[in-house]
Amino acid sequence: MVILGMLGLFLLVRPTPPEEPGNGNAAQAMLDFRSNLPETSTAQKIGQVTAGAAAADVLEVLGASVEEAEAAVSALRETGLVDRKRMRPGTALTAYFDESTLDGDAARLIAVSIKPDKKNTLLATRQADDSFFVSVLTARIMTSHRRVAGTIKTRLADALIEGKGNQAHAAAFAALFPDDPDLASGGRPGERFDAVFEIAEDERGNFLENGDLVFAAFNGETSRGSWYRYTPGDTGRTEFFDADGVAAQPFLTRYPIGHVPINSGFGQRYHPLTGQLHLHTGVDFRARRGTPVRAGGDGVIERMEFSDGYGRNVRIQHKRGYGTLYAHLSGFAPGIKAGDSVRKGDVIGYVGDTGSATGAHLHYEIRRNGRYLNPMTLDLPSGRNLATQPGEYAEFLAQKAKIDVLRGATVSPTMAAATLVTAPVTP
Ligand SMILES: [Zn+2]
Repeated sequence: MVILGMLGLFLLVRPTPPEEPGNGNAAQAMLDFRSNLPETSTAQKIGQVTAGAAAADVLEVLGASVEEAEAAVSALRETGLVDRKRMRPGTALTAYFDESTLDGDAARLIAVSIKPDKKNTLLATRQADDSFFVSVLTARIMTSHRRVAGTIKTRLADALIEGKGNQAHAAAFAALFPDDPDLASGGRPGERFDAVFEIAEDERGNFLENGDLVFAAFNGETSRGSWYRYTPGDTGRTEFFDADGVAAQPFLTRYPIGHVPINSGFGQRYHPLTGQLHLHTGVDFRARRGTPVRAGGDGVIERMEFSDGYGRNVRIQHKRGYGTLYAHLSGFAPGIKAGDSVRKGDVIGYVGDTGSATGAHLHYEIRRNGRYLNPMTLDLPSGRNLATQPGEYAEFLAQKAKIDVLRGATVSPTMAAATLVTAPVTP
């Protein structure tokens, strides 16, 4: 049992080029450790660090003395690979005792191994002077992909989890199809989906952990499309692009009256009238009285009213749980009322100084599910079209082709082009 356990550890050792310091030693240390294990008298005990029990406590519970536990744990900490103060709760820890030294109840702690993360295994072995020497065994991580496709039977998340994906993949998937509010809660049975996500494996192909969703296609009752994850080299901003290399359009604007100067940003500030520190829940744009104020995105007018602080104000409810508010207006746009649908860019009112305002400006708020967000830093899709930059576009198509191959889509970029050329032209 012990030997099998150690063999499992040993197999994670990366074949080490000698120029890499540490790893050669680790492999050698593991070999030495294995060959020196007393064959019959080694006991292996497994424990787990919890919020209430630090690594040293766990070792003591498993049978180590206070001194042994502390010596082993401080040696493990010196690697810098485990938390300085305490190990992450949930970290599994294996202690090896030499029972031939059994003295009353106390067997000698001869080694401790832990896996502080997916990549590293630490092995602390007892030395002749009773100190512990730590070897770091690093698995080489390979990124691979996994595809899950089919029909929703219960919920999208169930289907993805059954395919060894996770809840985060389901959430990322649903966020790509915001026109379908039901998808976030699972979608409908019968709707078709296709997902590809990254997985990390060691060099022997053993699964280590799930990575990001890289492809999502959906064919549902109210929403459909295909999205490919890509990180443009110039901005480094990861987004999902459609098959033509176009990112989703921003569904809200940061600038409902165009690019005008900002008087006051979002965040803590001293109120200009009361002098008290408070959260400024929006952005103040400086503009002349009467400047048209436009809906930040498609939505439904939730309220149009006058209140002491906001003065004349409009609230719009948008998709994805977003809401916007426009305050201190001098007037509402004629003909609109609560309950009306508006499109992004429709004029809804005019800049003014009603309510508690020191001068004409627009106070613009964005909320999501009741939480105030900073309109300037809010993560919005860019609407970017990669096809306008040949270098980026080629890179994107290459990555897309890889994902398409994984999906079993046999259309190569050249064939796709040929298909386009020969496609029947509809008059
Ligand atoms: Zn304001």
